[in-house]
Amino acid sequence: KDCCICCDSLKNVSSFPADDDESCEDNPNRVIKLHKCSHVFHYNCLLAMYNSGKKEGSIQCPSCKYIYGIKYGDCPSGSMSYEILNNCSLSGYPDCGVIKITYDIKNGIQESFHPNPGKQYTATGFPRYGYLPHNLDGLKILQLLKKAWFRRLTFTIGTSVTTGRANVVVWNEIHHKTEMDNKSGHGYPDPEYLNNVTKELTFHGVVEKDDNELEYND
Ligand SMILES: [Zn+2]
Ligand SMILES: [Zn+2]
Repeated sequence: KDCCICCDSLKNVSSFPADDDESCEDNPNRVIKLHKCSHVFHYNCLLAMYNSGKKEGSIQCPSCKYIYGIKYGDCPSGSMSYEILNNCSLSGYPDCGVIKITYDIKNGIQESFHPNPGKQYTATGFPRYGYLPHNLDGLKILQLLKKAWFRRLTFTIGTSVTTGRANVVVWNEIHHKTEMDNKSGHGYPDPEYLNNVTKELTFHGVVEKDDNELEYND
């Protein structure tokens, strides 16, 4: 079997040197198995992969993309709140009200973990809204979106796809329905939305039960 990080056999020693305290120098060909997905790697390869990344506090299995540990993003500070609109309903969900989520972020200065530390970032279009049906599925997703917010995953600082401006606050791959109707194509009806956003949240490691701590077997 091969280690899919270095593409070398697991019987051979990892090509990444064991040069810091965390690696076990006495056993450079240590192999570990991730406990959820059972994929196997050289310990030193996995460590080198983590150290060369953003060090977000999590490791994504390079074979199956499962996230171990909790991933934190770099969303600037702000607020998330929500309210229930009982006398509205969304197309496709006629029998329940609407959860209206409000995000507010103000302009600020980028911190050390942002793309351009010390430079200003611009938060345009805030407050921004997200709409969910007020049913069990919608409430479940609301809980996940709150988790994503506390982990700073909802927005990031980057270049706006629509305006091309850099150093602006942009959505971070977790799609929101930003309108109740579908005037600009970002609202309801969309029978696939709840499934799709659940997948996007899972991709960031945001799941109902946090049983994805990194444990491994030698
Ligand atoms: Zn390897
Ligand atoms: Zn895996």
